Amino acid sequence: MSAASLGSEATASAGSDVGAGAARQNLERQREPLTKVLGARTAKQLGKLSLETVEDLLRHYPRRYGDPGQLTDISQLKVGEHVTVMAQVRTATIRTMRSRGGAMLQATVTDGTHALQLTFFAKRAGVLRMHEDKLRPGRTGLFTGTVGEYRGSRQLTHPDYLIVGVDAADEDEAVLEASRPIPFYPAAASVPTWRIGRSVRTVLDPLPDDYFVDPIPEFLLDRHGHLPLVPSLRDVHVPDDSAAWKRGLARFVYEEALILQSALARRRAAHEALTSVARPRRDDAMASAFDARLPFPLTQGQRDVGEQIATDLERDTPMMRLLQGDVGAGKTVVALRAMLQVVDAGGQAALLAPTEVLAAQHLVTLRALMGPLAEGGMLTGADDATRVTLLTGSQGSKARRAALAEAASGAAGIVVGTHALLSETVQFADLGLVVVDEQHRFGVEQRDELRARGDRPPHMLVMTATPIPRTVAMTVFGDLETSVLAEKPAGRAQIATHVVPADNQAWLTRAWGRIREEVDAGRRAYVVCARIEGDAATEGDGDADVDPDLDGADDQLLAADGGIDLGAAKPVAAPKAPLASVSDTAAMLGARPELAGIGIGVMHGRLSADAKAEAMDRFASGATPVLVSTTVIEVGVDVPQATVMVVLDADNFGISQLHQLRGRVGRAGHASLCLLISRADEGTVAHERLQALAATTDGFALAETDLELRREGDVLGAAQSGGRNSLRLLRVVRDAKVIDAARVDARELVNDDPDFTQHPALAQAIESWLEPAREDYLERS
Ligand code: ADP
Ligand code: MG
Repeated sequence: MSAASLGSEATASAGSDVGAGAARQNLERQREPLTKVLGARTAKQLGKLSLETVEDLLRHYPRRYGDPGQLTDISQLKVGEHVTVMAQVRTATIRTMRSRGGAMLQATVTDGTHALQLTFFAKRAGVLRMHEDKLRPGRTGLFTGTVGEYRGSRQLTHPDYLIVGVDAADEDEAVLEASRPIPFYPAAASVPTWRIGRSVRTVLDPLPDDYFVDPIPEFLLDRHGHLPLVPSLRDVHVPDDSAAWKRGLARFVYEEALILQSALARRRAAHEALTSVARPRRDDAMASAFDARLPFPLTQGQRDVGEQIATDLERDTPMMRLLQGDVGAGKTVVALRAMLQVVDAGGQAALLAPTEVLAAQHLVTLRALMGPLAEGGMLTGADDATRVTLLTGSQGSKARRAALAEAASGAAGIVVGTHALLSETVQFADLGLVVVDEQHRFGVEQRDELRARGDRPPHMLVMTATPIPRTVAMTVFGDLETSVLAEKPAGRAQIATHVVPADNQAWLTRAWGRIREEVDAGRRAYVVCARIEGDAATEGDGDADVDPDLDGADDQLLAADGGIDLGAAKPVAAPKAPLASVSDTAAMLGARPELAGIGIGVMHGRLSADAKAEAMDRFASGATPVLVSTTVIEVGVDVPQATVMVVLDADNFGISQLHQLRGRVGRAGHASLCLLISRADEGTVAHERLQALAATTDGFALAETDLELRREGDVLGAAQSGGRNSLRLLRVVRDAKVIDAARVDARELVNDDPDFTQHPALAQAIESWLEPAREDYLERS
């Protein structure tokens, strides 16, 4: 597998270089266990956060920064919450407790207006002196604990705390320490953020500036005005001011982009060094016969992309192309034309689908499109005809043997199946092209596997219907050329989309009135609900792709400026009225005067197959021209007369799902309408998503918006994240410019020095970045 060889090449080149000793030493320094540096106890605590080595700790970047001048608003603290509060000590007194025996220290801290009690108990007063000494009036500190209540005032019992600047050597230093932005680390209740901060400083403070070899080559630091590694770590962990941490984080964002792009650039270079078999076009064979028998003209996009692919196939460098196109864009025809070019040139093509069911569907589609061209060896077949063969694991052994034989002999020009087709047991006479439909489950590793097959790897076309924003394509699929089928075949109508506030009765009445008008004109309407039954306890079909992260904690890094982390403090969601259900909605519509006399059907996943089929028939025939349904109609339903879709509680659905749903109307050239009924308030993310949907029917634009609104989460996918060396800071939309720049830099590096011999630290960084991806892949397979 060349993911592995990428890694080992890196080691080999680093090892052969004069700097090998330095590189090894660098690695030892990074991987030094924290037990050795911080002692077993602290190391064990940090281990709870998976921080094992010096590098783990130093790369544990703060999540945000607090402004030291800004105290926490104590009035906002809620009883029961685990909080970290920044406040000033007002008083601290020790009292002995005659009744219970023992002593108690009570301190009052304040945000200037409100007070919070801190309480410590001990057997003897002496034990509390240490606290009293630190908690001197006027000092500022961070206090962590769970908010309790005692005689009407809020308090923290035995809080963990840090007094700012108290460990300083002299007054000047104390002032400096007290004015620094305060880093807030991703922490655990048992490992508070400042304990992490202290450990970081224990490790970082004594390091000389050149302790580690910087993975970023010096000339690139200069080019972008970034500081070297250790000073940048200080910027991030011990910033003098907010400019410092911003500068530091920017450097690490760039570093991640450079590592990623360097890995991709090298992969690409390795790929370009491979040789494949050129499959030149012929104008006297199947490809042209196919074009002649197509019942529709190709769109301009299909032509243009077809030309790109045909040219790729004529070269003896293996094609690696990603074809993106929204559902219905007509990718199959494009793929088939490419496959026919290869078969005409004497090779074979394989079409891989994500599931056996989809593979079987493809077989039917290809045969239908090809007609007699797919009947090679049969009386009805055209002269140049070939065979299209299905090969799947669930086939009977006889059918499978026959299919295997056709693939091995070359009788089957086109073999359709799943990824199992790439297994060793399937032999091809001359596999010239592999088409992968739906890229998601076909990752970097599988691409590598394919490339590693034989010494003349086949050309490859990867197709995706889920629009991948350009920035993601560039990041994750940076080793692929990309083509986009932007336009859809003619005859698809405009769909006007509007967001309707759920509490606006006038608009709702108008919506039902629109359904009446359409039905009277012979059309159909869908009304989509999130749930099946009226009883709030029953869920819908469970497939609304609501993203729980959308309103979740914001872990934006660069944007977080100032402010104190209040631990688990989150806005309390107002209790919502239950979501509309299919049964309630059908009953409600049946009683609306606007819809009097109109048949209303229902459809959901719990109906039997027969009942579903009947409901669809009655809808299609017009017996029940209004269909109240769950999202089961999202895929595969095709009723050309459908022109209205009303989605209730639309704010509960994801962008992509609403986009797919909307694709059910406007299919037969009738102008159509999609109404998104929403309870989302203006200014919320949910509202913005719906507005985005109303603004465009372009799946790509929507995917970009979705990504931005999701604050991008982990769009890079499993292969690019999850391990300890994964990308922590890079965000594909926000950092698109940085990624672009790093891509240019990486290509320059690879051109000059394909094995990074001059840059062993970068080679090392790439290797450790690839490592977890590989482990992850092994787990999944
Ligand atoms: P997808 O890109 O989602 O795979 P398909 O290839 O399945 O889309 O095409 C969707 C439908 O559009 C199919 O019925 C196909 O035959 C039809 N189609 C493809 N290209 C054209 C065209 N140029 N003009 C009209 N219909 C087309
Ligand atoms: Mg398709």
